[in-house]
Parts: sequence; structure tokens; C-alpha cells
Amino acid sequence: MKPVLAVVGRPNVGKSTLVNRILGRREAVVQDTPGVTRDRVSYDANWNGREFVVVDTGGWVSDAKGLAHQIAEQAELAIGAADAVLFVVDSQVGITDEDEAVVRVLRRSKKPVVLAANKVDDQRTEAEATSMWNLGLGQPWAISAIHGRGTGDLLDAVLEAL
Ligand code: GDP
Ligand code: MG
Repeated sequence: MKPVLAVVGRPNVGKSTLVNRILGRREAVVQDTPGVTRDRVSYDANWNGREFVVVDTGGWVSDAKGLAHQIAEQAELAIGAADAVLFVVDSQVGITDEDEAVVRVLRRSKKPVVLAANKVDDQRTEAEATSMWNLGLGQPWAISAIHGRGTGDLLDAVLEAL
């Protein structure tokens, strides 16, 4: 069985963009506007000759429950079936309540977590990525999923966690 990597995080942080970057092709659907309902989607991936399954997690389902609650719930489902978790946050926005909700789920799961501080498109956003140490999940990997900046080093760390 191939190891499973779950990509989790609140909507719009760039999870699907990062999944496409990992796959080297555009399969995961990137949304410019959050709010589109989607299920978890699994893809076969490989990096440096190691094969694994990457699970992209999607939108949310209703307005009845709070957003943070639903994101945490989705993350919980994906994390339960994963060997390691790639937690994506948005460096341009900073830490939000929804991010904190996912962090609580991650802590409980005790699964290995690699933290991707996304949207570091240039040097100016590096400081914001550094502030992601405050999540208490260890080293934030500063990346730009869109440009591919830092994603090689991130994937090396992912392989070590899997
Ligand atoms: P998801 O909801 O977490 O899957 O996020 P998406 O991958 O759908 O991306 C949400 C938006 O963020 C899209 O407009 C992307 O183009 C944009 N985005 C993703 N990665 C980056 C990045 O590294 N830098 C910038 N500036 N925008 C990004
Ligand atoms: Mg997505």
C-alpha cells in the first residue's frame, strides 16, 4: 500500500494549487472563489521516485454549521485516513480562527504534520511565513504553490514524514 498524504487547511489557502504542483499537472480544481462543494479527491503522486497518494480536501457543505467547525470536520476525516498531513496556511493572510481549528484536530491526531506557509511569492512575504512558527507545529516551509518557490524542499520534508 502506498503511503497517504492528506492536504488540509481552510478554503483558499492554495491546497489544490499545491496538489497540482505535486502532481506536475493540473488535476485538482483551483477555485478563485471559495464556497464550491467538493469531496476529498485522491491522486497518485511521486517525488524522487517515491510513490504516494495525495488527498486534496475541498469546499464545505452547508451554512448551518460554522465554517471553522466544518473545516475541522473535513480535516478530521482526511487526517484519519492519512499517514502524514500537509497543513497549508496563507502567509499573506496570516493565522485565522479556522487555521487554529485545524491545528487542534492535527494535535489530537498525533499524525506527522508538515506545515506549508503558502503564497510566499517573493522575499517580502518571508517574514509572514516565519510568523507561522506561532502555530506550534514546528518549522513552516515558505512556499509559493503558484510559482513553485520552495516546493522541492517542502516535498523532501514530506517524504521524511511519510
Ligand atoms: P484551496 O481552496 O485551498 O484549494 O485553494 P486553491 O488552490 O483553489 O487556490 C485559491 C486561490 O489562491 C486561487 O486564486 C489560487 O490561484 C491562489 N493561490 C494558490 N497558491 C498561491 C500562491 O502561491 N501565491 C498566490 N499569490 N496565490 C496563490
Ligand atoms: Mg481546493
